[in-house]
Amino acid sequence: MSHLRFKEVEVAFNRAPVKVDIPSDPPSRYYAEKVFDRKKMFEYLPRDTYQAVTRAIDEKAPLDRELAHDVAKAMKQWALDHGVTHYTHWFHPLTDGTAEKHDSFIEHDGKDGVIEEFDGKMLVQQEPDASSFPNGGIRNTFEARGYSAWDISSPAFIHDNTLCIPTIFIAYSGESLDYKTPLLRALNSIDRAGTAVAQLFDPEVKHVISYLGWEQEYFLVDEALYAARPDLVMTGRTLMGHESAKNQQLEDHYFGAIPMRVEEFMLDLEIECHRLGIPVKTRHNEVAPNQFELAPIYEETNLANDHNLLLMSVMAQVARRHHFRVLLHEKPFAGINGSGKHNNWSLGTDTGVQLFKPGKTAKENLQFITFLSCVMAAVHRYNGLLKASIASATNAHRLGGNEAPPAIISMFLGTQLSRVLRSLVDDDRDDNLNFGSRAGLNLEMSQIPELMVDNTDRNRTSPFAFTGNRFEFRAVGSSANCASAMLALNAAVAQQLMWFRSSVDRSMADGAGQDEAILAEVKRLLKQSCPVHFDGNGYSDEWKAEAARRGLDCETSVPRIIDNYLRPEVVEMFSETGVLTQVELEARNEVKWEMYVKKVQIEARVLGDLALNHILPVATRYQSVLLDNVYKIKTLFVPEKFERMAAPDLDMIEKISCHIQAIKEQVSEMVENRKVANRIDELRTRANAYHDTVAPLLETIRYHVDKLELMVDDEMWPLPKYRELLFIR
Ligand code: ADP
Ligand code: MG
Repeated sequence: MSHLRFKEVEVAFNRAPVKVDIPSDPPSRYYAEKVFDRKKMFEYLPRDTYQAVTRAIDEKAPLDRELAHDVAKAMKQWALDHGVTHYTHWFHPLTDGTAEKHDSFIEHDGKDGVIEEFDGKMLVQQEPDASSFPNGGIRNTFEARGYSAWDISSPAFIHDNTLCIPTIFIAYSGESLDYKTPLLRALNSIDRAGTAVAQLFDPEVKHVISYLGWEQEYFLVDEALYAARPDLVMTGRTLMGHESAKNQQLEDHYFGAIPMRVEEFMLDLEIECHRLGIPVKTRHNEVAPNQFELAPIYEETNLANDHNLLLMSVMAQVARRHHFRVLLHEKPFAGINGSGKHNNWSLGTDTGVQLFKPGKTAKENLQFITFLSCVMAAVHRYNGLLKASIASATNAHRLGGNEAPPAIISMFLGTQLSRVLRSLVDDDRDDNLNFGSRAGLNLEMSQIPELMVDNTDRNRTSPFAFTGNRFEFRAVGSSANCASAMLALNAAVAQQLMWFRSSVDRSMADGAGQDEAILAEVKRLLKQSCPVHFDGNGYSDEWKAEAARRGLDCETSVPRIIDNYLRPEVVEMFSETGVLTQVELEARNEVKWEMYVKKVQIEARVLGDLALNHILPVATRYQSVLLDNVYKIKTLFVPEKFERMAAPDLDMIEKISCHIQAIKEQVSEMVENRKVANRIDELRTRANAYHDTVAPLLETIRYHVDKLELMVDDEMWPLPKYRELLFIR
């Protein structure tokens, strides 16, 4: 066994970089060559059809049958020109990741042969047999089949010789069975609500657009070492493994030189992304060894999210070409940083104004502060929901430690902006807020632009931070579908914006001037939502106590955090914004609880197996080596010498015994608790049982295994250790 481990380590350490064929053309030449974008439509469609289609896309209108048929024909031709043989509706089920069912283009031609066929019906709507996708009982309840429908705002693309058509996935009764549908509804909602507010400042505004720039963190592990860790293969994280002597304490990995093998991987990945029209731009090492980050130029939220999902699957493929495995788990290794996916989020108008960017004039700043205060109010009111939107069995291991945000949603503003807002709220002196003279508004807000310059903070413990012209939702996990966070955030803010506009309209109807009405509402919101504002250290115990006093959600159990989706005000918000119905919310929660149970269950099974079948036999074997030694000393030496000479071994033998015993007992207890939990019918209660009685044992069993790792002869240890897994050369 030990032999195998060393062989794997040797293979990994001697692996040569896989050289990438760099295209001779610059990226601008091959960018989006695999995307059926407007350029390709222009090329493949008759001019008037092209215009009708682009108009439909811009106006978010459905395609009529005729038009769909023409687009399908053009798409098929383009795909065939690129050697494509299959097509698929590509959608985002409620599991993380994407789903696809490939169909070939061929149809019988009626003359014993086949032709390539792809018509409007196939493009626009499909009925995948998706009975095995999680649906939380919706399809049982409504006895409805599911169907997928093309999302024309996201262009089709070619991946692996397959034409992929981004689609929504819904039940015939209309309930969404995916992430994309409610995301699109939330984006519509914030468009409408945001536009109504932006029009207070500029009547020309017709749309408000939500933007997303994700930063994808990930780990790489050599494939030989990965294969030798059943826990990584089965669960995506190490369930055991003692910290190595050196990990990230020297901070020598962050922004350090990228290892050659990794650089080739990144290059390969970037070229692939650019061909797929994913505008990746930034790459660097992260803080932990073997941890890296990739970020694109931000895009409209729906497209950005499609691109992130596509990226995650492309990453896994490209990594294999380089003999790596990508770990997207939020906490693959204990004791060092986990991986997040910061969601940089902003709103902008179709007239080109960035709504979270402080302006140059007082009027622009009033608009900035209007949108800022609405975001703050929404994050305050729905802090529990936002936490639920990022909660998962895997992300739970990351939150609250090693530079990750804590499991309490607060908002970071930075000292300068905080000061400006405070003076706005506190200081009601007339000379500061003088609207009577109409010369007003010349308050501190006009100073904001200069103040913002150094506002990109490095406070990584903040889950939701203002960073100069956008918000960075940092609590999102690296493996998550960003849609979950984005639909909750955009919907919550949309509702707040709707309320804002109505309130201003009401005040104006009562005779207030517009600026006066806006500022009064801004001040009210800022005052009311100040409990969510926190710039300090999110890890401190004082903050936990303070956050609870402020009424913020401090729950850390994932199954209970998920309850937030069903709080009356949340159900009402999702219904008011038209994003999710109560039925959909209930169904989704069923899926979430079930996913939680399954993930913990798998981990418990894998850990039980590893502990009993990999670790204990080796520990026992080493213990008997020590026992042998003790016997030999006894036969050779006089009793006084024996006692002294055998003492260290005897001590070790006893310690090993204690750990072995603890592991055996706790594994039995874990199995027993699982059985009890499995007998619970109600999913929410079962998930709570898994959280309360199974998950804690994963930690305590690990503790004993990790102690044994430090005692047992290194040559016998069966699994690659952290020091071997974590330092790519
Ligand atoms: P950091 O210092 O946090 O690493 P980066 O400069 O790497 O920040 O940017 C992170 C992401 O934020 C990128 O995807 C970038 O395109 C995105 N971003 C920048 N400005 C905006 C904006 N106004 N709205 C949304 N995303 C943005
Ligand atoms: Mg960032």
